[in-house]
Amino acid sequence: MSEYILKSLLNPESCDVGVGFAVALLAWYDLNARNLPWRDQPSPYRVWVSEIMLQQTRVDTVIPYFNRLIDAFPDVAALASANDEQLYKCWEGLGYYSRVRNMKKAAIIICERYGGIFPNSYDRLLSLPGFGAYTAGAVASIAFNEAVPAVDGNVLRVFSRLYADRTDIGTPAMKRAIEKQVISLLPPARAGDFNQALMDLGATVCLPNGNALCEICPVQSFCKGSQEGIVSELPVIAAKSPRKMETKTVFIIIYKDRVALRKRSASGLLASLWEFPNCDGILDNEDALNMLAKLGIHTKKVEPLPCAKHVFTHIEWKMNGFLTYAQSICANESMHWASADEIRHYYTLPSAFRAYTDVALKVLGSANETSTQG
Ligand code: SF4
Repeated sequence: MSEYILKSLLNPESCDVGVGFAVALLAWYDLNARNLPWRDQPSPYRVWVSEIMLQQTRVDTVIPYFNRLIDAFPDVAALASANDEQLYKCWEGLGYYSRVRNMKKAAIIICERYGGIFPNSYDRLLSLPGFGAYTAGAVASIAFNEAVPAVDGNVLRVFSRLYADRTDIGTPAMKRAIEKQVISLLPPARAGDFNQALMDLGATVCLPNGNALCEICPVQSFCKGSQEGIVSELPVIAAKSPRKMETKTVFIIIYKDRVALRKRSASGLLASLWEFPNCDGILDNEDALNMLAKLGIHTKKVEPLPCAKHVFTHIEWKMNGFLTYAQSICANESMHWASADEIRHYYTLPSAFRAYTDVALKVLGSANETSTQG
C-alpha cells in the first residue's frame, strides 16, 4: 500500500457519507453491474487495456476495439513485440495515439524488468509509461484488489454531488480531496468492486448535463447534493481556454490507382501516423497547383473537395482539400503510394482525415471498377 494511502487512512477526514454508503452501493452493483467483456476475465492485462481505451472514449465505442486488440495481442508479451503498423491499425479511429504508444513502452518494461509478469502494486504500476493515478488505481484495485482509489471524471462528478461541493473538479486539490473521500469509504475486501461500482453509478445513474437519475439512485439517502436540490448545478467545472485554430489544405493525389501518403514526424501531434500530403493555410486553386509542383506532382487540374474540421483536445483543424490526378511524378522518398486495400488494412490514417480518406477510397474504388471492367 502506498505511503500516501497509509497517511490517508491514519488521518481520515470526517465522513458525512458514512459506512452504510459502501453497503448500499455494493448491493446495487451486485445486481446492476454492467456486463463488459473485460470483466469476464479481469486479468491485469485486460483491465489495463480497457482502462486505457476508456480514457476519453465511450464504453460502446471501446468494446469492438478491445476485442480486436485482445485477439491480435492476447498478452503483454505479444503487445511488447507488436509491429507498430499493426498496432496502430488496431487503434485506428480511437484517437489519442499516445495512449497506445505508451502501452507498448509499458509492455516492453513489464517484459524486461518484471519477466512479463504484471507488477501487482499501485506504486509499481504508477512508474510505468501511461499510468497515472487513475489507471494505476483501477488496475491495482480491480486486478489485485489493492485498496486504492480510481478517481476519473465520473467519480469526480458523483462525489462533488454527494458532498454538495462546489469546488472546481478540474483542480488538483479537489481531485486529492475526493481521492481521500473514496479511500475513507473503500471496503478493503472489495476494493475493485467498489471502484467499479462508482464508475457504473457515474456512467448509468449519476449522469451529467442535468440527467442524474436520483429517483433510482442506490445512494440517494447519503447524497447532500440531492437533499439540497442542487444536483443540476454540480459538478462545477471552470471554463476551458479556447482551442487554438489551425488551417490546412489536404491533397488527394491519385496516380495509377494509388493515392499519395506520407508519414508524420516521430514526435508531436499524431506522431508516426500516415497522412495525405497537406500544408498549412487555406490555398486557392492556383496556389494548390504550385504546391503540388513543389511536391514533384505534375498535374494540370485540381478539383476542390468539401471542407472538413477536426477537433483535438487543444487544437481545432479547419481543412479544405483538392483532388488531383497526377500525369507524372518525380521520385520522392517521403511519398508512399497506397492502394485502397492497403489503406483499409495496413496504413493507419487518423480520423482527423476521415472525410478525405472516404474521398480517396471512393475514387480508388471507382478507378478499380473501371480498370476491372476495361
Ligand atoms: Fe448522483 Fe442523484 Fe445519486 Fe446524488 S442522488 S449520487 S446526484 S444520482
